[in-house]
Amino acid sequence: MKYRVTSFSVYSNPDNHHNHNMVSGICSFCNQSSGFKTNGCRSEDTVPLKCDNCGKNVVWDYSRSTILPVARMDSLRELPESIDHYYQEALSCIAALAPNGAATLFRKLIHQVGIHYNVATINDGKPLMGVVGELEKGGHINTKLVESLRRVKDLGNDGAHVNENEPDMEQIQIVKTLVDSFLQATVLQDANIKNYDQSKNK
Ligand SMILES: [Zn+2]
Repeated sequence: MKYRVTSFSVYSNPDNHHNHNMVSGICSFCNQSSGFKTNGCRSEDTVPLKCDNCGKNVVWDYSRSTILPVARMDSLRELPESIDHYYQEALSCIAALAPNGAATLFRKLIHQVGIHYNVATINDGKPLMGVVGELEKGGHINTKLVESLRRVKDLGNDGAHVNENEPDMEQIQIVKTLVDSFLQATVLQDANIKNYDQSKNK
């Protein structure tokens, strides 16, 4: 979650600027884009801030340049349960500032979508891009989504192994948008088509 410093003088010395706007961004409580005013004294690396929108207190963490608790990212709704399970767990990892966990879970989620479309099984030894290829062959995804999923898989591999490319929070947020597009174009679009057909048959 990106936060913008709205006043650098308040940011560097919040104790001298009580009740002034310091940063803006998404609130952990109301999930709206909001301004945050100083609402207390700085202690070590933290200062209390109050959300302009819902009035609740959050904490600014100077060492991580973020608001705590971390806002949960927007979630897709009405995913099939077996897929939602991994999706929600990945969002929980993002909220816990655990990008390695989220990257690994998004990779698992692709496998689970493969199971949903009967092109993969639990514990199958198929490489993930093999599953993705089957999804493409079955007409579930296009070439652009194959390329998106290759990136999700790559970051998932980086999340699962110790190497020089540790996933960071910025990367995992981008990968979440790739995963969202994939799910919107597949399982959620199936549901949209079904809903439309049902509405015609009334
Ligand atoms: Zn709020």
